[in-house]
Amino acid sequence: MKTEVDNPIRTTFLPFALPSIGEEEIQEVTDSLRSGWITTGPKAKTFEEQFRRFVNAKHAIAVSSCTAGLHIALTALNIGVGDEVIVPTLTFCSTANVIEHLGAHPILVDVDENFQISLEAIEKAITRRTKAVVPVHYAGQACDMDVINTLAAKHGLSVIEDAAHAAGSEYKGKRLGTHSKATVFSFYATKNMTTGEGGMITTDDDRLAERMQILSLHGMTRDAWKRYSATSSWYYDVIEPGYKNNMTDIQASLGLHQLRRLESFIQRRKQLALRYQTALKDTPELILPTELPDRMHTYHLFPIRLRTDLLAIDRDQFIIELATRNIGSSVHFIPVHRHSFYAHKYHYRSKDFPVAERIFSGLISFPLYPLMSDQDAEDVIHAAKHIVRATRRQYPIPPYVTGGLCNK
Ligand SMILES: *Cc1c(COP(=O)(O)O)cnc(C)c1O
Repeated sequence: MKTEVDNPIRTTFLPFALPSIGEEEIQEVTDSLRSGWITTGPKAKTFEEQFRRFVNAKHAIAVSSCTAGLHIALTALNIGVGDEVIVPTLTFCSTANVIEHLGAHPILVDVDENFQISLEAIEKAITRRTKAVVPVHYAGQACDMDVINTLAAKHGLSVIEDAAHAAGSEYKGKRLGTHSKATVFSFYATKNMTTGEGGMITTDDDRLAERMQILSLHGMTRDAWKRYSATSSWYYDVIEPGYKNNMTDIQASLGLHQLRRLESFIQRRKQLALRYQTALKDTPELILPTELPDRMHTYHLFPIRLRTDLLAIDRDQFIIELATRNIGSSVHFIPVHRHSFYAHKYHYRSKDFPVAERIFSGLISFPLYPLMSDQDAEDVIHAAKHIVRATRRQYPIPPYVTGGLCNK
């Protein structure tokens, strides 16, 4: 590739993602370690209470991961063998894996141009066996929950939200967490807030909350002694074979402080996103993410799409070019239908997911996290523009050659 003079390369590598762990988090973890209470205890309870209040839900259940939370929510809604659950193909594999674990079938559907589950595709995929739909609030921007809920109600389906990217995100002025039967958040290291590994389920449904709580810890109920004996707190009863998916106080120590800082994290993410949007809006080779009305986008990700019809290199090469300029990046996600397990078991074909395929072919997530400086963002912008300039096609591929499948 042609090199140009104005190409000062960063001297250090900019990682794709880094968590913002402060001194308070470290102190709080140390406090847990010294207290002797290192598994689920008072801090996990407090974290649940604070998160519950943050999203204004009736219940919050802290769990070991978002994956575990999705599994528990689906189990508690009695999703089981032979049932069908509709999920978008442009998601992390665990959204589909948990459905498979239950003996149910993840029915993958296409997404729209905003990376969100396609409403028409949901409607087309509904059968007599369909029990639920799991919209994913991709990148931290809420799906159209009113439309999804209306559609689900019409067909008697449960809605469980995969809000792994979306702690703090809003839909129609209300934070996510109460827009459906159950909402599941992730506190994985790269997400908007982190407990290392961890997740939270929120719901307004009392009975569902109780069952999810019990399922998260072996199926044990501590209230049993009240009913069956006069003995005290050592007694418990197992009312169904639950899971070991509780959150520890060590994780909650992180969560308590991360939740307090979440609003400032989101503000910083939005500032950086705005910087990208402003600096790259006149680069037609890159399609930038759009903000939908009635949403507060928290920018867990900044996914751009390459116009591969205008560039001489493809997505994979673009990522390598970024790396040679010391810029980390990633791809969210390899559509689930492309993973060999799902492709083989369900005979999914790429042509069944034209939008997800077209998006995926040009998809790159730029680094975006609160620890990034303005200069870091400028380095990403500079590198991206430089790559575009150096690889711009002199003669763009006309749409009749690409069959209209270029990234427009
Ligand atoms: C990260 C992620 C998950 C899984 O979260 P964990 O807390 O790591 O289990 C689920 N869905 C999506 C869309 C994700 O990005």
